[in-house]
Amino acid sequence: MNLSKFSRRPTCAVRIGRVVIGGGRPVAVQSMTNTDTNDTEASVAQIERIDRAGGRIVRLTAQGRREAENLGRIVDRLRADGFDTAVVADIHFLPEVAAVAAQYVDKVRINPGNYRSDRGEFEALVAQCRERGVALRIGVNHGSLARRVVDRWGDTPEGMVVSAMEFLRACRRLEFDQVVVSMKSSNTRVMVAAYRLLVEAMEREEMHYPIHLGVTEAGNGLEGRIKSAVGIGALLADGIGDTIRVSLTEAPENEIPVAQLLVDHFADRPGEFEVRHPERYSPTVYRRRSRVTVPVVHTEPLDGFRVLEALSGNPTAELRAAILNLETADEPVVVKRHYEEPTLETVAVKAAADLGPLLLDGLADGIWIDAPGYSEAEIRDVELMILQAARLRFSRTEYIACPSCGRTLYDIEGTLAAIRARTSHLKNLRIGVMGCIVNGPGEMADADYGYVGAAPGRITLYKGRTVVARNIPQEEALDRLVELIRANGHWVEP
Ligand code: SF4
Repeated sequence: MNLSKFSRRPTCAVRIGRVVIGGGRPVAVQSMTNTDTNDTEASVAQIERIDRAGGRIVRLTAQGRREAENLGRIVDRLRADGFDTAVVADIHFLPEVAAVAAQYVDKVRINPGNYRSDRGEFEALVAQCRERGVALRIGVNHGSLARRVVDRWGDTPEGMVVSAMEFLRACRRLEFDQVVVSMKSSNTRVMVAAYRLLVEAMEREEMHYPIHLGVTEAGNGLEGRIKSAVGIGALLADGIGDTIRVSLTEAPENEIPVAQLLVDHFADRPGEFEVRHPERYSPTVYRRRSRVTVPVVHTEPLDGFRVLEALSGNPTAELRAAILNLETADEPVVVKRHYEEPTLETVAVKAAADLGPLLLDGLADGIWIDAPGYSEAEIRDVELMILQAARLRFSRTEYIACPSCGRTLYDIEGTLAAIRARTSHLKNLRIGVMGCIVNGPGEMADADYGYVGAAPGRITLYKGRTVVARNIPQEEALDRLVELIRANGHWVEP
């Protein structure tokens, strides 16, 4: 491998208002508001905070006509305040709402799962976007594919690719190239597989649309940052990605420094664009290199493991090459890297981005972060979180928490903190904490239990994909969730 040559996947340039992505430009960072889109004051103030933090592209949900119409007022207020932030409308279900929003914004994100190819709705939207110079994002989400795609391909990375390619081919047929594409999932393995398979499919058809990267419902705190860094880092390390969003269940402006840290971390990194190991990712055929069943962290016995330490400026490529050059093809490997960073968060994000992809690729079996200035317990915690984000070892409850948006029906940050306080000692459980019933159930994907906003002050609880308590008062919901976990034998006393 030639480590001195750097090349990102070549993409065409797409203009989103005053911001251009792709075409060799630096990776742009972006975020999404979590205010009510009908609340002009609050939405404008939040967009301005995101812009000041460095996020030049901001998305707002437009769930209905009223919200879509209010985007016009929001854009006017922003411009009057001197902000040229690129404004994006997020449309999920109603094609007619996209048509309203496209009158005002710089980009429209649609979920192809909600469009039918035989009604001409998509063609009409493309014509409208072309006329006003509006960009389009084909935003595929694991968990909300069209029924006809799921019936044939299942809710899989392959199904996500089929869904995206159908609409990308339509864009090409219509000679519309102001298109960005995303393939998000809260499951990093699914997400990385979907993007890599998509890039392969696009390369085969000589498509060069820019790519928006993101891990959905990553949660908050260090865990949320690490999960995003593992998924986004794996793809940035491949040379894939033109714009990124780190979704956190926190104030949206908190997402920007994390996203920028990732972009800067990979900005000068040598490497070669290559789609790596697509065969390892599909949930049905995922294979690890060695037979180690419980991957280790550095404080555990390492007998029988080969420790490989990265010393160059491109740790992921260096370690990948070293592992693939080992004489014994299945010898268990611990990957190690030294970090001197001012905060634990920076150590965590960089280590997750550097070492996480090797774990996710099934190449490594353990992790060793050498970071002076932090306690062994802190580093061990980060290492365990990286193993979990790479879906190799589940040592704590995983929260699949949405970042919240204009649809959110309750205080999601406070609620997540309360749920975490009661349940974080449980192991091997995934709990979905979702702001709305419209998208929440689909997007919490493989959660074991779900806590979903059903109406103001009302929660619906799920076990897997099944509703077990509908519309219960929020004051009772956490106790009922604990009861449900207990009744299903998953509870242990703290
Ligand atoms: S689940 Fe609902 S509230 Fe949460 S981000 Fe998605 S659309 Fe918004």
